[in-house]
Amino acid sequence: MWLASAVLVFAILSFNNMEENAMNNNAEKFEFPALPYAYNALEPYIDAQTMEIHYDRHHLAYFNNFLAAIKGTAAENMTLEQIFAKMSTFGDAVRNNGGGYYNHILFWNNLSPNGGKPSASLEKAINETFGSFDKFKELFGNAGKTRFGSGWAWLVVAPEKKLAIGSTPNQDNPLMDISPVKGTPILSLDVWEHAYYLKYQNKRPDYVEAFWNVVNWSDVNARFEAAMKK
Ligand code: MN
Repeated sequence: MWLASAVLVFAILSFNNMEENAMNNNAEKFEFPALPYAYNALEPYIDAQTMEIHYDRHHLAYFNNFLAAIKGTAAENMTLEQIFAKMSTFGDAVRNNGGGYYNHILFWNNLSPNGGKPSASLEKAINETFGSFDKFKELFGNAGKTRFGSGWAWLVVAPEKKLAIGSTPNQDNPLMDISPVKGTPILSLDVWEHAYYLKYQNKRPDYVEAFWNVVNWSDVNARFEAAMKK
């Protein structure tokens, strides 16, 4: 048991380091991190087959296509954060695949079978911004449910250090200069059909409700603290 825990902790630390590298470090960036839990870890809320296809095919394809898209361009020597900040100067292949590469790393980290609960400081900020925790869930959920077609819902720390909810189409994200919602994303929800169709078919609202059972609040808390200090 302790061995399994040690391996899990090591896997999570490695995963976070790789995310850090992808965001900040030019030398060893752009790796494809391991999923930080088993495909079936989020059952029954997100099924194993969906997780396997989502990670192993969709996410991997974004990663490979992103590498191909930046080859020989200025983006090759930039961090993801620098690329996103100048997104409007790149083409659709970098935008769609760079977004898909980053967004899914964030999403996997935002999920966990034992995610704890919001910290006192995050809960306070949520209550101050949205009125109550239930109201926040309603607004965030609606951002996902009402996104037409494919896209994402976001909770961000906006540049003025306030929480904000928004949604983006396709693989855009709030770090991109072309995004209508801007800031540091701390909680993400993938509402592409590939994220839920095998289990929920056309019932996206059921998937959005189930999502709350597997939110990794420990991760969201840490991202909130880091973003507020930035
Ligand atoms: Mn996806």
